Amino acid sequence: MNKQFVKDKLDRPLRDLRISVIDRCNFRCSYCMPAEIFGPDFAFLPKSELLSYEEIERIARIFVGLGVEKIRLTGGEPLLRKDMPVLVKKLSSIPGLADIALTTNGVLLPRFAEQLADAGLKRVNISLDSLNDELFGQINGRKVGVTPVIDGINAAKHAGLGVKINMVVKKGLNDTEIVPMAEFCKKENLELRFIEFMDVGSTNGWKMDDVITKKQIYDVIRENYTLEETEPAYFGEVARRYRYKGTDVHVGFISSVSESFCSSCTRARLSANGQIFTCLFNGNGSDIRDFMRDGAGDGELSKRIMDIWNHRIDRYSDERTAETMANRKKIEMSYIGG
Ligand code: SAM
Ligand code: SF4
Ligand code: SF4
Repeated sequence: MNKQFVKDKLDRPLRDLRISVIDRCNFRCSYCMPAEIFGPDFAFLPKSELLSYEEIERIARIFVGLGVEKIRLTGGEPLLRKDMPVLVKKLSSIPGLADIALTTNGVLLPRFAEQLADAGLKRVNISLDSLNDELFGQINGRKVGVTPVIDGINAAKHAGLGVKINMVVKKGLNDTEIVPMAEFCKKENLELRFIEFMDVGSTNGWKMDDVITKKQIYDVIRENYTLEETEPAYFGEVARRYRYKGTDVHVGFISSVSESFCSSCTRARLSANGQIFTCLFNGNGSDIRDFMRDGAGDGELSKRIMDIWNHRIDRYSDERTAETMANRKKIEMSYIGG
């Protein structure tokens, strides 16, 4: 392992925590939870395995004490978890936590956006991969059209939440939607983030040939719009952001396959059953739930978290090769939350 890499990586402070609150979902997106694998008999985590809201709050407090400023709630589909506003309220009472965000497929936002905003949620990222009903229904595996997601976007805006749109681009599936999505988001004053199709987990049939790179997407956008590069909003921001010239509307590109950023990764991930992962592409998490349930005190939990953080040397995207892709056991996206 390159010594400079290890030094750079270990110098990065812990700033950002992603918490998956549930591994279930009401969608079966082909790039995340293909319906053929996540069928009616699929064994999702039983409730007793999930961290309770009290447990999540306790772990989050400890993370904030160690430097975390931002928490993003995700899943599976986080809004399927009962009483999500209750969790948001608990987290928003943690002193020192500057930002709470949520990633969602959006369809339950008309029901929950107001309550989430009242509880202290600041921002939502809403996933939308196409504006074509038929194609979107095929991608989400549940024949859900675009309107329920647009209703979710409007509900979030109406509740005063910041809204960004996530679009995963997969070659031959929805690359024809790049420009229509850009046009829609520009018109609606929404920041769109194009995400390269990633080899998370081992069920989505990922092939390098299916990836449309950030550069290819950028070139398509540049053919249609004039862009100005903007400074990253903070160190370790994973999206390269641009502004459409003459507007305040941004567009971002997340290039975790074609350009890696492992040495600047400041993110820890907590899975729905209480394991800590220091890389999206790891197969093995480090348990924190059972340690806590066995009676560990806050000081012991804090020490365990720092031990995990200070020993991380993950650099999967830097090292992605045919060999690592084929042989590495990886955690599913629906379990770790993206
Ligand atoms: N269900 C919520 C949603 O779809 O927004 C939250 C969980 S989802 C796992 C989080 C993010 O991961 C979404 O923006 C989704 O598009 C993205 N994602 C899932 N599978 C992916 C893959 N194979 N490559 C790139 N992004 C992926
Ligand atoms: Fe569900 Fe989100 Fe995965 Fe789609 S991307 S299957 S909505 S968890
Ligand atoms: Fe971070 Fe792992 Fe992605 Fe590298 S591959 S940027 S270590 S999550």
